[in-house]
Amino acid sequence: MSDGTKKLLLGGLAIVLLGYVAYKVSGVIGEPEYVAKANSRTLMDIDTGKLYHFELTEDWGPYPHKNPDTGKDTLYPIEWCYNNECGKAGGTPVILNVWRGKPNEPTYCPKCGALVRFHNPRPSNAGGAEESQGH
Ligand SMILES: [Zn+2]
Repeated sequence: MSDGTKKLLLGGLAIVLLGYVAYKVSGVIGEPEYVAKANSRTLMDIDTGKLYHFELTEDWGPYPHKNPDTGKDTLYPIEWCYNNECGKAGGTPVILNVWRGKPNEPTYCPKCGALVRFHNPRPSNAGGAEESQGH
């Protein structure tokens, strides 16, 4: 194989790689954030407080989910508390009392004591300029 042929081959390979990278990057940028969020769930172990990230599947069943580390059914969905210092820290994951068998008891954030409900709104004063442009 001559040097010229090697250069041609390498050049072709580089172009293919660049195209692949551009394709991957555009794919990541092209997917809206809400799509990524809708296709995944963050669950928390009710015993340890450790977070687990899952991609949603067709047969996504009822809670609790099995913890892949312990094999126990201890994973529950969380809501994010964005109140007080929690908002400044980027949110605190909280398992609602409804998942703890106490559906009629309000859930308070263990960190800041604020009331936490389903689909908590991110308060406008909790940092981040992306929420400031009203519709
Ligand atoms: Zn909080």
